[in-house]
Amino acid sequence: MQLPAPHPAFAGGLWPAVPQTQAAALLAVVEQLSRSQFLSAEELAAARRPQVEALVDHAVAEVPFWRERFTAVGLDPESRRRAAPDAAEWRSRWAALPLLTRAEVQSLGAALHARRMPAGHGGIGDTVTSGSSGRPVRIIRSTLDYFYWQAFQLREHLWRGRDLSGSFLSILRNEQRTNLDDTIHLQRNKDWGAPVSTVWPTGPSYLLDYRAPIAALIKTLRDVAPDYVCTFPSLLLEILRRARQDGIPLPKLKEAVVVGEASPPELATLCREVWDAPLSSTYTAGEVGAIAYQCLAEGRWHIQAENAIVEVLDASGKPCAAGETGSVVLTPLHNFAMPLVRYEIGDLATVGGGPCGCGRLLPVLDAIPGRARDLLMLPSGDLRPPYYGHRAVMQVGAILQHQVHSCSARDLRQAVSVIRAK
Ligand SMILES: [Zn+2]
Repeated sequence: MQLPAPHPAFAGGLWPAVPQTQAAALLAVVEQLSRSQFLSAEELAAARRPQVEALVDHAVAEVPFWRERFTAVGLDPESRRRAAPDAAEWRSRWAALPLLTRAEVQSLGAALHARRMPAGHGGIGDTVTSGSSGRPVRIIRSTLDYFYWQAFQLREHLWRGRDLSGSFLSILRNEQRTNLDDTIHLQRNKDWGAPVSTVWPTGPSYLLDYRAPIAALIKTLRDVAPDYVCTFPSLLLEILRRARQDGIPLPKLKEAVVVGEASPPELATLCREVWDAPLSSTYTAGEVGAIAYQCLAEGRWHIQAENAIVEVLDASGKPCAAGETGSVVLTPLHNFAMPLVRYEIGDLATVGGGPCGCGRLLPVLDAIPGRARDLLMLPSGDLRPPYYGHRAVMQVGAILQHQVHSCSARDLRQAVSVIRAK
């Protein structure tokens, strides 16, 4: 697919375009990623090592919790000076680091925040993620980390070869929505938004708030008739079932994109059958950003190894072999505001074997099972994504876990099931 020229920074520099500062910085990182995806495992580990060491040294200097953990395994700067580890020794010391659980991130909270930041990492923002377990985790992230997240988002668009002049409709949560009745809340934007529109001219985009019955969502989808649609797999599954039942085509659709949870195996087939469009799924998390992107060539997921160290471990803590399914353990490399090292996010993944047919050498996952959102059935039998004010609940620091229980078709109860002992 032919990409348009980037937005020019000034008149008379249109082609080849001289991009604006932020766009040029993003393109410079994307260009490096276009080469690092072909590094062998050893080359990638060696290229990544200075970034990992910078993260470790910062964590040791600015977070007492990490100073203790890294010193215990001999990965703190002082121990490394005394006995510099080669690649094998580094891996062995790294494997001795205890895993960081979600419960620890919850209970440690600000004790995981860096006291000071290196120059240039920008401001700090926070995000609350519920994961699949209902245990809220509050993460702070730097502007620099957000910048990297944008660069990896661009990589995903480029991998899929999307036509940027098309229209892109997302069925996700719109934070700006205030009324929560069952009417449709559709926001039209003149372009796809950051980061794509930071760099290139694009077609329009739409944000359809998911908090509405499926029947209303699908009617809007048919009216807008987008080139691309993006939502959660569980919601797309219900939309596709309804579209098949009611015979609702989307003739313009070029691709459906699913985010935020594992994609059920039948989803790609159903998408092809109902709308004659391919499906792509991305594995991301609010704590980490990009974890793995699905490849067009074989449908497997390439680990975004330049963004995070992604380990898949068995019950005894050993790395899973190809074909084995284990727990995903993540070390995001660029968020110095709240270093997370060997963070066990609570997801499962199946390690892939052999190189991918696309030629990229980034490691591969064969499946990402076990992440799903629920849909709520209304008394009418219609389904809708549930909304129960969980973000407000998460503002209460003492709550570790909460649960919504469906007692009957008309009766929902919300329970705070665990409260931190003081
Ligand atoms: Zn591939």
